Amino acid sequence: EVRLEGVTRRFGDVVALRDVSVSVARDEVVAVVGPSGSGKSTLLELVCGLQAPDAGRVAASRAVLMPQRDLLLPWLDALDNAALPLRLAGGRRPAARERAHALLGELGLGGFEHARTWELSGGMRQRVAVARTLLAGAPVLALDEPFGALDAITRADAQDWLAGVLAREPRTVLLVTHDVEEAALLADRVVVLSPRPGRVVCDLPVGLPRGDRARSPSDPAVVA
Ligand code: ATP
Ligand code: MG
Repeated sequence: EVRLEGVTRRFGDVVALRDVSVSVARDEVVAVVGPSGSGKSTLLELVCGLQAPDAGRVAASRAVLMPQRDLLLPWLDALDNAALPLRLAGGRRPAARERAHALLGELGLGGFEHARTWELSGGMRQRVAVARTLLAGAPVLALDEPFGALDAITRADAQDWLAGVLAREPRTVLLVTHDVEEAALLADRVVVLSPRPGRVVCDLPVGLPRGDRARSPSDPAVVA
């Protein structure tokens, strides 16, 4: 579904990625972790075709990116921002807004459907962007720190929600995160990048099937 082979990407003298090979199978979730500057966002942009490699090959099914910095449009409310991919695909506005409404509710944004982007907090904007990315309906999702701006409690809810979504409707996902717990909860595999130059230093399966890892109230780690 996604395959990078010997990919190198340079920006002038900076080697953002060197000889990177990563494959993601259909409906597999791969967490991409690594320090700032290790090329995580560059990798996602290559997968989504927003950048081209200087060497090597990138092959991916239709992939949609949730960028690290959201691209919400200030002249649209939260619903229209989330519904944008449906509208661009030719969907009618009422139906598109209805689907967006349901998703925003699931993401804890009930009551903010009509808010403009400047009335939303960073974490709220991030969740609108997550909804928008899902509504694009692409087989491959490239999520760049989707919950990075959320407080711990809202983040845990959002992570559980995404785990549920992926269990119901499996997708191929590349998930950039600095949150090891998030990787452990959501991913099948973890790829670790090192900086200067960005290289894959580790590519390991998480171990347990995803369904067996869901947080639950009886989980002692949650109660503690
Ligand atoms: P962070 O965790 O801070 O988001 P990252 O792992 O996503 O970091 P990238 O944004 O992929 O890192 O950047 C990797 C390297 O490539 C960095 O050294 C960065 O300065 C450089 N870089 C990325 N994009 C550009 C660009 N458009 N022009 C010049 N240099 C760039
Ligand atoms: Mg980044």
